[in-house]
Amino acid sequence: MSTPPPADPPEGLPRLAPPAPRPDRWVLYIDLDAFYVECELRSRPELRGTPVIVGPPPSEGPTRGVVLSASYEARKFGVRSALPATLAARLCPSASWIAPDFPKYEAASREVRSLLHHYSDEVIPFSIDEAAVPVEAPNADAARAIAERIQHDVRTTLGLPASIGVATTRVIAKMATDLAKPAGIRVVRPEEVAAFAAPLPVRAIPGVGPKTDAILRQHGITTIGELATHRPGEVGAWLGGFGRELVALARGAPSDAPESDEGPRSRSTDRTFAEDVGTWAEIETAIHSLAAELAHSLEKEGLRYGAVGVAFRWSDFSRSQRSRTLSAAQEGAAPLGELAVRLGRELWEAEQSARGRAVRTLSVRTERLTERTQRQVSLDDFPPASGSAHSAL
Ligand SMILES: [Mg+2]
Repeated sequence: MSTPPPADPPEGLPRLAPPAPRPDRWVLYIDLDAFYVECELRSRPELRGTPVIVGPPPSEGPTRGVVLSASYEARKFGVRSALPATLAARLCPSASWIAPDFPKYEAASREVRSLLHHYSDEVIPFSIDEAAVPVEAPNADAARAIAERIQHDVRTTLGLPASIGVATTRVIAKMATDLAKPAGIRVVRPEEVAAFAAPLPVRAIPGVGPKTDAILRQHGITTIGELATHRPGEVGAWLGGFGRELVALARGAPSDAPESDEGPRSRSTDRTFAEDVGTWAEIETAIHSLAAELAHSLEKEGLRYGAVGVAFRWSDFSRSQRSRTLSAAQEGAAPLGELAVRLGRELWEAEQSARGRAVRTLSVRTERLTERTQRQVSLDDFPPASGSAHSAL
């Protein structure tokens, strides 16, 4: 299924195949471990080594909120992010709860990004605690050495633990990061990609969520190796262009042709609260999670956004909205979350100084969508090192 990259042709002969990716370009995918919790532990070291949960403290009364981040000690009790806070409190009664402080986490995220800029001109944020950093290195060992320096630097200068995946493409680097957690480094050499990916569940592929997983399961596919045995057209019939890209990725090859359909020019996501919400803290938390959700689906589609909007539907069903155009297209949850919170705050303050209604429905929107990179789209940053898709048929 995988063949080594073509050798350089003898001098003077034209290349018959497109050039293999430059062997010195590696992608380091950095994911901070238990990020919100670790940000809090910087100022509360006495809690280190104990179960800590960032989320709406249950002591402050009944909540419909969820866990935003849990320390690894709390995870031993089954506490996970997105778990309802009331359930988490029952699973781990000894946990210390800390109310979320998003400005603190955004500041820490900026510190991490500026540190990463010491290692690469390009730092591509994917969420508040994840970023990809392309680096140049002559081989895998040299790429690993850079990852080790970054991990050490982030821990000693910023006090934050990070896991790092290293590969020649972002998608594989991200998948490697997930296996490196917590506080590890996982390197996947180009020739190891197929063997690395084959046993993993299809859910390990960034962008494959429960819906795609369920469709693939209906066709008897649970692992990436099984996905690789299907024809792109077959999977494309179930999942559209994304399905074809998935097969290409499972086979270690780029998709044959980038998607050319334009697609809608905006995306939005919204939440209607079970009861109208009258506190900024709850709205801020909801804006952050909507922004993260939206950024995730844009990432899956390989889209960047050039404008962000926030809309509130108030308890009396009237609606207010505010939007802003960015000076340059952005990607990832961090810039989206920061701007959406700012816009939401403006709407909220204007309302509170006037009528003071509560919020019924909240929506976050992105507009002016463009493809993320000129060269390729979404899952495509896979190396052509393993031969064309046809060789695997
Ligand atoms: Mg993380």
